[in-house]
Amino acid sequence: MKEYDVVIIGSGLSGLSCGVMLAKEGLSVCVLEQHSVCGGCLQSFRRDGQTFDTGFHYIGSMAEGQLMHQYFKYFGIADRVRTIALDADGYETLNIGGREYTIPIGRQRFADRLSEYFPSQREGIQQFTNRVFEVKDSIGVGLLRQGIISLDGARLNMSVSAAQTIDNCVTDSALRGVLAGSSLLYGGERATSNFYSYSMVVGSNIEGASKILGGTQTVADAMADQIQRADGEVLTRARVSRIAVADGQVSHVEVADREPVRARYYISSLYPAHTFNMLDRTPAIKKVYINRLNELKNTYGVFSTYIKLKPNKLPYRNTNIYIHSDANTWASPEKRTPTMLFCPTPSADMRWTDVATLLIPMYHSEFAEWDGSSLGERPQSYEEFKQRTAQWCIDLYERHYPGFRECIDKVYTSSPLTFRDYTSTPDGTAYGVMKNYANPLPTMFSVRTKIPNLLLTGQSLFVHGAIGVTVTSTLACAEILGAEYLARKIGNA
Ligand SMILES: Cc1cc2nc3c(=O)[nH]c(=O)nc-3n(C[C@H](O)[C@H](O)[C@H](O)COP(=O)(O)OP(=O)(O)OC[C@H]3O[C@@H](n4cnc5c(N)ncnc54)[C@H](O)[C@@H]3O)c2cc1C
Repeated sequence: MKEYDVVIIGSGLSGLSCGVMLAKEGLSVCVLEQHSVCGGCLQSFRRDGQTFDTGFHYIGSMAEGQLMHQYFKYFGIADRVRTIALDADGYETLNIGGREYTIPIGRQRFADRLSEYFPSQREGIQQFTNRVFEVKDSIGVGLLRQGIISLDGARLNMSVSAAQTIDNCVTDSALRGVLAGSSLLYGGERATSNFYSYSMVVGSNIEGASKILGGTQTVADAMADQIQRADGEVLTRARVSRIAVADGQVSHVEVADREPVRARYYISSLYPAHTFNMLDRTPAIKKVYINRLNELKNTYGVFSTYIKLKPNKLPYRNTNIYIHSDANTWASPEKRTPTMLFCPTPSADMRWTDVATLLIPMYHSEFAEWDGSSLGERPQSYEEFKQRTAQWCIDLYERHYPGFRECIDKVYTSSPLTFRDYTSTPDGTAYGVMKNYANPLPTMFSVRTKIPNLLLTGQSLFVHGAIGVTVTSTLACAEILGAEYLARKIGNA
């Protein structure tokens, strides 16, 4: 049986981040991925000569010197992945009830622009902006350089409501809608969303929203390559089916149609219940705990309509556009798709839009009747549902931006079931376990488990998204390498 220092289960951004960090620091690592390609939500697919991204449409804190850029530097991929900053004057455009609000990059510019739209709310807007960045700045490059990976911001703000914080700071209902306008990015719901996730996601975008050019798969491929250059392995078509325990420790993992793999440490990036469902029964992990994990609520999924546009037809706007019918911009199970996000991909000369992805939140009840189907074997009714939904999205965009429909060449779709079957997330949840501010503790997970050599990472632990999973992976690797050592290495890369 082949033996490594660390085996990592899953090759999404969290698993690959662990792989690069540990391999760079001299450990022998092996990343096991069930699919034929690595990347999880970083995966892109190609159709008709175009590249479509599935799970990353912008990445925050990507300007030189900011946190995500620093990680890319440390990973050794900053020069290998092509990124472009979104429009500094309007990285995001919120179209609410037919009126456009453009959101600029930069914390003070953000506060100033919103104050221009809502002059009577200037004081509350400044207060709100300061609150967001107080939380967002609880992690950052400066702290890493001092050897600190802090969770203080999380401890203090996971139990704070995002909606109530907005409401406490500003009174104008249209402004409240603007501040919650990108809720699709963090699985936002008025009744549950916490202010920590809000600040990490929204704050990092205000600071430095960028997109990856050439497909987010290039990030996954560059990271896998870095692991291999450091003598690590990334094995695809390697589905872990059992995490075996002997003498209170993980002894090895079984991999479908392959030899078992052994290591000193194991890091699982999978949805938490899936990890523990695969783990041998052991007195350290009580059945009641696993039952509780299996019952946790998850965030909604996302339905994506991927559109290949006719060449040189739709001028490129370097902004991601949200459409909301009214100022109630939060998602909720009672409301049918109140939100849509439009993400364009530019042509090589940046003048035209080659590809547009339209994303809407989707709750399980909307696709539950096809739960029993699997990829490649879905009934006709499911295909019709996907076509209907895609047309609904296109109609909505056309109503707000007439002329769009005639630019369309080809349409492809994915539903939460597609995500379920590609990344093994329950019901295709977009962001994993839902963090409810009203009772956050049962939905937060330590990277440590009661099995000393089994660690966890992944989007369900604390915060999802690029920054969320990268920082969580740092915490997992810090258990092996030492927090201060690792933080300084990243911060000073
Ligand atoms: C539609 C959508 C849009 C998003 N947009 C953004 C965005 O614009 N910006 C942003 O920052 N974040 C965005 N996110 C969130 C972000 O993509 C995720 O938070 C992040 O990618 C999760 O990474 P992960 O490594 O935890 O999980 P995943 O990417 O899901 O990776 C898990 C991996 O584990 C593998 N796996 C599962 N079971 C096994 C097994 N038994 N054996 C081996 N391998 C296994 C899976 O195949 C997968 O590759 C978006 C998410 C979605 C769904």
